Amino acid sequence: MKAIIAGAGIAGLTAAYELGRMGWDVTVLERAKELRSGGYMIDFFGPGYDAAEENGLLDGLACRAHAIDGVELVNGDGSHQAYMSYAALRASLGGRLFSLMRGDIEQVLFEALPGSVALRFGSEVIAVEDRDTGVAVVLDDGTGAEADLLIGADGLHSGLRRQMFCGEAEALKFLGYHTAAYIFRSQAVAEAAKGNFTMLSLPGRQAGIFRMQGDQVAVYFLWRDARPERAADTRQAIAEQFGDLGWLIPEILAGAPENADIYYDVVAQIEAEHWHGKRTVLIGDAAYAVSLLAGQGASLAIGGAHLLARMLAEHDDIGAALVAFERVMRPEAEKKQAAGRRTAEWIVPSSRFRVWLRAIVFNFSSLPIVSRLIGGLVPPSPKGIFAGATKGQHT
Ligand SMILES: Cc1cc2nc3c(=O)[nH]c(=O)nc-3n(C[C@H](O)[C@H](O)[C@H](O)COP(=O)(O)OP(=O)(O)OC[C@H]3O[C@@H](n4cnc5c(N)ncnc54)[C@H](O)[C@@H]3O)c2cc1C
Repeated sequence: MKAIIAGAGIAGLTAAYELGRMGWDVTVLERAKELRSGGYMIDFFGPGYDAAEENGLLDGLACRAHAIDGVELVNGDGSHQAYMSYAALRASLGGRLFSLMRGDIEQVLFEALPGSVALRFGSEVIAVEDRDTGVAVVLDDGTGAEADLLIGADGLHSGLRRQMFCGEAEALKFLGYHTAAYIFRSQAVAEAAKGNFTMLSLPGRQAGIFRMQGDQVAVYFLWRDARPERAADTRQAIAEQFGDLGWLIPEILAGAPENADIYYDVVAQIEAEHWHGKRTVLIGDAAYAVSLLAGQGASLAIGGAHLLARMLAEHDDIGAALVAFERVMRPEAEKKQAAGRRTAEWIVPSSRFRVWLRAIVFNFSSLPIVSRLIGGLVPPSPKGIFAGATKGQHT
C-alpha cells in the first residue's frame, strides 16, 4: 500500500511513523524547506499520551521533557500574583503529563521514522484526483504521483482541506484571540523565569516565559483581538499589545527575532463537515483543530494519526477504515473543542475579578478538591478509543 502525506507536522510525522511500521510505502511532502524547530511549550497529556504509550514513542518524547517546578502568575509590574506547583497539575491528570517543545516532538517523530518513509521538503500538492481505486496528485514542481491514500496533515490553514472539502471561510471558526511565540536569548529573563513557567496574567492579555537552557528562553503571547485576520507585521502587533507593560516585557520584546522566525496566528478551531473522501482524509489541525485554549491539539494530532493507522490495519477496505476513523474521532474532537471554548475565560480571564479568581484557584491548587476542579477542565477520552493497551503510570 502507498500513502502520500501532506505536512510534516506532528500529525503527518506520526501517521508516517505508524504506516511505515505497518509496511506501507510512505512519502511525506512538506511545504517548508526544513523541519521546523522550536515553537512553544506543549503540555502533553490525554489521547496523544495514550497513543504514544501504545506506539512506542512515549519514552522518546519523555526524554525531551523539561522539568517544570510550577506555574507562577505575575502582575503587570512583575509582582507575584499566584503559584501552582506542577506536581498538582500532574496529579489532576493522574500523573500522565509532561511538557516539551513542539519542535522536539517533531524531532523525536522524525528520528523514529522507518527507512521506508521518504520525506520531501519544499514540496506541496496543488491538484488532487480522488478515485474509487486510488488517488492521483500533481505537485507544485509539475510532477505527478499516485497512491492508495492521501492524508492531509497540513495544519490549521490546510490547502488540501480547501481543495478537497471546504473553503477556509466555512471551516475556520475564529475564537477572538491572536497568539505568537518565539525563542530568544537573555540571561536576565532566563534567571527571572527560574524553573517555572512564568505567566503575566492581565485581563485579556497573557505572556508566558520558560527557561529552556542557559540563557535561552521560550516566550509565548496570547491576547484578545476581535480582528479575524493576521496582522501584516508580527513584531509590531506584539509591541502594540504588550509594549505598555513593565516587568521583563521590554527585554522580551527587544529579543524578538525577525517576523519570519516568530510563530504567529489567529486562535481558531476547525469545523469541517467532511474529513474524508474516497481515498483522501484529513487529520490533526487540518481536520479538527481545537486551539491552544483546549490545550490538546498536539495530543489529538498524535492520537488521531494513531487511530487512523489502527483503523487502516483493522479494515481490508480503505474507504471503510476512513469511515470508521471519522466515526470515532469526530465526537472526541468536538468534545475537546467545546471544552476549549468553555475554558477560554479561565485561560485568558477578561476582567480583573476573573484574574483574581484564577489566582485564588492557583493558590489553593494543592487541595484535592481544587485539583479535581482543574482536572475537570479537561474532558478525558474513554480508555481504548485512541489506544487499546493497558495503561500504566509514566514517571
Ligand atoms: C501557542 C500554542 C500553544 C499550544 N499548546 C499546546 C499544548 O499545550 N498541548 C497541545 O496538545 N497542543 C498545543 N497546541 C496545539 C498544537 O501545537 C497543534 O494542535 C499541533 O501542532 C497541530 O499539529 P498538526 O501536525 O496537525 O499541524 P501543524 O503543526 O500546523 O503542521 C502542519 C505542517 O504542514 C505543513 N504544511 C502546511 N501547508 C502545507 C501544504 N500545502 N503542503 C505541504 N505541507 C504543508 C506545515 O509547514 C507544517 O509543517 C498549542 C498551539 C499553540 C499555537
